[in-house]
Amino acid sequence: MRFLHPTPGLSGIPQEDAEARSREILQRARIYGEDRTLTDQMMLTRLDSVVNWGRKNSLWPFIFGTACCAIEFMAVAASHFDISRFGAELIRWSPRQADMMIVGGTVSYKQAPILRRIYQQMADPKWVIAMGACAASGGFYDDYCTVQGVDKIIPVDLYIAGCPPRPEAILGAIRELQIRLERQPVRV
Ligand code: SF4
Repeated sequence: MRFLHPTPGLSGIPQEDAEARSREILQRARIYGEDRTLTDQMMLTRLDSVVNWGRKNSLWPFIFGTACCAIEFMAVAASHFDISRFGAELIRWSPRQADMMIVGGTVSYKQAPILRRIYQQMADPKWVIAMGACAASGGFYDDYCTVQGVDKIIPVDLYIAGCPPRPEAILGAIRELQIRLERQPVRV
């Protein structure tokens, strides 16, 4: 291999020294496995894909728990079901630090403005899961004080059936949300 020094002495380094130095660098690169081609060292992707990859694997849940469903959620967060397998174990108690709200339990009309305000305090992008019959539709509390589904107050992305839903169903909803996030365009 010839090393290009068309004007010897221009760089201030004698050509023989420059060639020896280049050989030394190449030798060192081979030892450390750095002599791969440029295409070996690059990964091409779309901005949407890489941002969504980060988002879907680091969901930060906020639990708006008002009744028994919230107790069931504790099982999901515990070691047996282990929500951390889906990158969503960092449960936040401030809506400003969360991007996935899980509403578990009945919501009364008195609580409705609080729920809406907490939702508004979450930064975009954000997603909502209505967990269980009560959050999804009011459940069997078809009465004067219970909101008949939290989607009357805030937008809901996913509904989980059950009274209460099994932990596997909650994990299934998180997985479904992750699949949706893969296809979501990133707004700049
Ligand atoms: S859906 Fe069932 S378990 Fe969940 S809050 Fe309502 S009554 Fe309780």
